[in-house]
Amino acid sequence: MSETDARQIERLKTLLARQKEAFSDQRHRPIDQRKADIQKVADLTRNHAQDIMAAISADYGVRSCAETQIAEIGFVISAAKHAKSHVGKWAKAKPASVPMTLAPGKAYVRREAKGVVGIVSPWNYPWQLAIAPLIAALAAGCRAIIKPSELTPKTADLMSRLLAEAFDESQVAVVTGGPKVGEAFTQQKFDHLFYTGSTHVGRLVALAAADNLVPVTLELGGKSPAILTEDYDPADAASPLAWGKFFNAGQTCIAPDYVLAPRSKVDATAEAVLEQVGTFFPDFASDADYTAIISDRHHARLTAMIEEARAAGARILQPKGSESGNARKLAPTIVIDPPVDSQLMTEEIFGPILPILPYDTLNDAIAFVNERDHPLALYVYAKDKALARSVLDRTISGGASVNASMLHMSVEGMPFGGVGASGQGAYHGEHGFLTFTHERAVFEAPKWHPSRLIAPPYGKTFDFISKLQSK
Ligand code: NAD
Repeated sequence: MSETDARQIERLKTLLARQKEAFSDQRHRPIDQRKADIQKVADLTRNHAQDIMAAISADYGVRSCAETQIAEIGFVISAAKHAKSHVGKWAKAKPASVPMTLAPGKAYVRREAKGVVGIVSPWNYPWQLAIAPLIAALAAGCRAIIKPSELTPKTADLMSRLLAEAFDESQVAVVTGGPKVGEAFTQQKFDHLFYTGSTHVGRLVALAAADNLVPVTLELGGKSPAILTEDYDPADAASPLAWGKFFNAGQTCIAPDYVLAPRSKVDATAEAVLEQVGTFFPDFASDADYTAIISDRHHARLTAMIEEARAAGARILQPKGSESGNARKLAPTIVIDPPVDSQLMTEEIFGPILPILPYDTLNDAIAFVNERDHPLALYVYAKDKALARSVLDRTISGGASVNASMLHMSVEGMPFGGVGASGQGAYHGEHGFLTFTHERAVFEAPKWHPSRLIAPPYGKTFDFISKLQSK
């Protein structure tokens, strides 16, 4: 292990101890203080928007500033606004009705902060995916330590500096480093671990957390399908498909991973998406809004996927001028009918490659999706709403959008999370608040209630009450 990693791990242990001590001194952070905490996060994001854009662009080589504005800065500020205006209501104890045998007792659920939480975040939206969970944790009254991805070091350093200026380390802190630090991080006795990243590492995180029985939220990846139905015009689907796939050059957990189209519409779909790409990025190589691939390793991985499909006879479509000026830009690529056992169809793509596969009947398309791991998102394009809903009825996914890509995740009041291999638990809005909250059930007994009669020696009164209970 490098000396820097070892130092970060020592620092992590000290920080965790400090935060735990601070939490035991203040278990219930007053709502006005939580609001002020959330406001600080919104302010530092707004006031340093240019620095955040520059840091992410430097980490990527080229990262669309417009996309950073909407998906990192704007997203976080909206999440903060939503949390700030609702936290008072979310944090209130929720009354529960009591059964007759406990009347006139009082039952209610206290919403209490879990304590000190750990947030491990990935590189693809390096600000949003660390800071949105932080907002939820602060709304719940928790303290937090963040471990951002090592692939976006400039963003991680900026985050570390800005949060250190705004918060005492006993409330919010950042530790940096790679997998070794991540591994040590997830072995600590946090009161909750919130992990966003690959399914492979997610499994390791779940195992590490299990050792300490630390509750864990896993926001993972997978292959999110888009199903085009017979009644939908490919020309109408082209814009949302191309937007969802090529936003951040496909490095988005809920990007449509592949399209299933009626056999007769495959070519029209491919051509319509390619035409749309030409409108979005007339010259992707020089376009500052067409983002580069995060690392040489990922670029090589994606190129190998295309070449494997090409060698297997799949048709590859790319816009003209595909020789990119930036070494890590990868041309927007459409692959028609790659083999289902190729890497393109067995691994999450996480890049600007869109496979389009033909199906003969909608049942075949649904079976294709259901034979695979439950995806993080599912997209259905259908004019007929009943048809779209019948596709939803017959499939499982973390979330879904109808006749759109990715937009369900922008509705702050809805849960965002996976199911099965694409994750467990959820956040955004009140769901995020609840992730970091312990719901503590309390019963306050009145001086006398009928259940006092349920005590030995059991006799006629007991029989009467137990009959009442089973009625
Ligand atoms: P990754 O799993 O490689 O890394 C994520 C984080 O885990 C990083 O901070 C990394 O340092 C840390 N890490 C690495 N090894 C670790 C270990 N052994 N123990 C603990 N932590 C460790 O993921 P990535 O490549 O940064 O992100 C891409 C993946 O994330 C994709 O699969 C994508 O779908 C998924 N993702 C999911 C969501 C979601 O909300 N569900 C959002 C974005 C990305």
